[in-house]
Parts: sequence; structure tokens; C-alpha cells
Amino acid sequence: MKNELGVTMEHVRCAFCRGKGKDPFGIMSSLSTCCVCGGKGTVQVQAPYVGCAHCQGSGAIKTLTCTVCRGAGVIPAPAGPTRVCPECQGTGDDTSASAMCCLTCRGRGWVSAE
Ligand SMILES: [Zn+2]
Ligand SMILES: [Zn+2]
Ligand SMILES: [Zn+2]
Repeated sequence: MKNELGVTMEHVRCAFCRGKGKDPFGIMSSLSTCCVCGGKGTVQVQAPYVGCAHCQGSGAIKTLTCTVCRGAGVIPAPAGPTRVCPECQGTGDDTSASAMCCLTCRGRGWVSAE
């Protein structure tokens, strides 16, 4: 499925709530709706996509939505050649505070090889 910009979009299972559509951490209440997918259990992402390094595909950093993938667990795949981020060695985490994303690669774990 392509959108009006010619970008292929795919539905994937919401990583943050694991497809349940409910807030996985019950911050407000265990019945509250997942803030990532709005309760649908799936999110739309740009394809092709790769797993998010910062949250390791879980969509969450502790009990917060991952800022890199916004909770989807995946991010759009790089368009060109990449190399492992020299700052975080591919973890996507800030080396001094792992809950923060690496500023060099913006949490992706890779940087453009150019
Ligand atoms: Zn969800
Ligand atoms: Zn993430
Ligand atoms: Zn990095």
C-alpha cells in the first residue's frame, strides 16, 4: 500500500502494547488505551523498515514510549549504505544514560556510510 507521496506503508503489530491496544504499564489504569496505536493494536510504518536499536524493538524505554520509533518498535530502513554508529556501537543508547538515545545516530544504531 502506497500513500500519496509514493511511500509504501505497512501495518505492523504495535510493539509498545504487543498488539493488545491497552496501555501495557497501566500508568493511568490498566484499561487505558495504548497511546502509540490508539487501541488498534497495529501501527502504520514506512516500509521497508528495520528494528529499532534503542528499544530493541520493544517500543518502550522503561515505561515510556521510545522516542526513536515512537513506540512502533521499527523505524524506516536506511536508503543508502550505513555503518555501525561509532558513538554507541549500534546500541542506539547514549553512552552515559542508556534511557536517552544516542545523539550521533539519533538512536538508530547506524549512521550513513557516506
Ligand atoms: Zn499499542
Ligand atoms: Zn524504539
Ligand atoms: Zn549511536
